[in-house]
Amino acid sequence: MAQIKLENINKIYDNGFHAVHDFNLEIKDNEFIIMVGPSGCGKSTTLRMIAGIESISGGTLTIDGKVCNGLKPHDRGISMVFQSYALYPTMTVYDNLAFGLRLAGFDEDEIEVRVKEVSEILGIQSYLARKPKALSGGQQQRVALGRALIRHAKVFLMDEPLSNLDAIQRVNMRSEIRRIHNTVGATTIYVTHDQIEAMTMADRIVVMKDGYIQQIGTPKELYFKPVNMFVAGFIGDPQMNFIYGKVEGEKFIAKDGSVIELKGFNSKILENASKKEEVVIGFRPECCAVEKIKDAKQFESAMNVEVSEMLGDTLNIYGYLGKNHMVVRTNPFTKYTVGEDLKFYVNYDHVVFFDAKTEYIINED
Ligand code: ATP
Repeated sequence: MAQIKLENINKIYDNGFHAVHDFNLEIKDNEFIIMVGPSGCGKSTTLRMIAGIESISGGTLTIDGKVCNGLKPHDRGISMVFQSYALYPTMTVYDNLAFGLRLAGFDEDEIEVRVKEVSEILGIQSYLARKPKALSGGQQQRVALGRALIRHAKVFLMDEPLSNLDAIQRVNMRSEIRRIHNTVGATTIYVTHDQIEAMTMADRIVVMKDGYIQQIGTPKELYFKPVNMFVAGFIGDPQMNFIYGKVEGEKFIAKDGSVIELKGFNSKILENASKKEEVVIGFRPECCAVEKIKDAKQFESAMNVEVSEMLGDTLNIYGYLGKNHMVVRTNPFTKYTVGEDLKFYVNYDHVVFFDAKTEYIINED
């Protein structure tokens, strides 16, 4: 187990490109951290700097109190799992697992004990004699994880380890990796562009954009208390609804004149929002509802149904509140017809407001 501290870490590549800016993070013993963000945001660069396969341009990396900036990768007590499984095709699973330990001079009895241990954790005992090409993608990824586990490293780094798997294998491996983490208990830093992986697996998530940390928090904090519109939009599927407009009293008035009632909503936030020239109201698709009633159009808030997605357990209804495109996630038995107007409600327990200029959240203070 290990504590990792990144203080003001920066990366400037040789061509002058500044890929990571002032990255600050303290990772606790045994914590499962996921770095997430769109392509090019600097998450892999940060991971590679922790691994030691990319130099650190500025700042300090400490593992268990020891500054690691200048240490070689194998002196950092780290194991890394990549997107490509990088298994040796001519070797059996057993030999793939044993390879690193043989290089490090372990005797065969100890190697056998460790292969047995990790193959039991991963459930790969029955194919130790097979070559990688006789395994499914998910099984190959398990072996790749096994190669990292067998070294008993105190830190695991994983770079998009599930991206070569199909959708079902990915879902299975998500819980599998979490189970392994709970069993083995090593500090883990995991990189992905997939917000669902981040939400389902992480203790804490680091959201990055253009080389900057946007927010660090638990999945729940990021979902319900995003600091800005980027985080709010990146986390959650379907995306949070955003409508531009103004707050007047206890009403939100969209640019096109559509109205959302906010009677009883946090008065301090309303007051702060009403001082801004323009705000954005944000609400999750499951924090609103629609109702089929006669002459729904006569109400200030009516949603015109454009299209729907029936997922079995839920129903996503896409449509327009005035000119504003929106999605409502509701129960699959909701009555509606494409093209009709439905009465629209927002459950404002989880409504948030952003300053349209800065795109940052408007709080009570
Ligand atoms: P992806 O999900 O696509 O891997 P990422 O968030 O992991 O994206 P990085 O690979 O860390 O992003 O790259 C961050 C930025 O640094 C990108 O704009 C990339 O083009 C740039 N970059 C990466 N490697 C180098 C390099 N060797 N020299 C110059 N720029 C680089």
